[in-house]
Amino acid sequence: MNLILLGPPGSGKGTQAEKISSDYDVPHISTGNILRHAIDQGTDLGLSAKKYMNEGKLVPDELVDEIVAERLSFLDCNRGFVLDGFPRDLTQAKALEGIRGIDTVFLVECPQQTLISRLSNRRECSSCGKIYHLLNNPPNREGFCDDCGNKLIQRADDQPQTIKKRLTTYEKETKPLIDYYGEERILVRLDGFQNPDTVYAEIKKYLP
Ligand code: AMP
Repeated sequence: MNLILLGPPGSGKGTQAEKISSDYDVPHISTGNILRHAIDQGTDLGLSAKKYMNEGKLVPDELVDEIVAERLSFLDCNRGFVLDGFPRDLTQAKALEGIRGIDTVFLVECPQQTLISRLSNRRECSSCGKIYHLLNNPPNREGFCDDCGNKLIQRADDQPQTIKKRLTTYEKETKPLIDYYGEERILVRLDGFQNPDTVYAEIKKYLP
């Protein structure tokens, strides 16, 4: 079960990837999470990636391709994996093709105004990573996580100017992947405007 979740930032790819990962026991591989972790740890990778991420640009392909190639070589990927946020351009898609075959690509689409609202109101727990939306899914106590009590933070790239740039980057660099994977082949279109459980019910129809 080798899966890709494709879609603009804020479409809910991460939420769906988590659900698949926990129900089907395959690793959820988010290049964004790996890069943010590298930044927090102050590694060379983190230092190189930070400025691209804070500007809403793609981190160079050679860095990201290497991270993914290494991660996919781990034993836990033998039974499958869910890629979230990779590939993000054609070069990455071709690099992936040389490493592992893909069974299904889920494209999660959403109107642009909804994406902007989701991203600008998104807060995440600085400790456990739980995601909140200030209007639709606020924490019980403002600024703190319901589950672990730690502080909620706003991602550096969830600022208005960076959100705009990330959406433009998606249109220009990532959208061509829709044709690359092709609806008549392995790509499945999903309406990410619906609530996450409804989207997930749709996804499950395509999983074993
Ligand atoms: P995400 O958490 O998936 O929204 O990713 C956050 C940021 O990390 C993106 O805006 C990019 O700057 C960077 N990033 C994540 N995945 C990739 C990728 N596959 N290729 C290049 N940059 C990436």
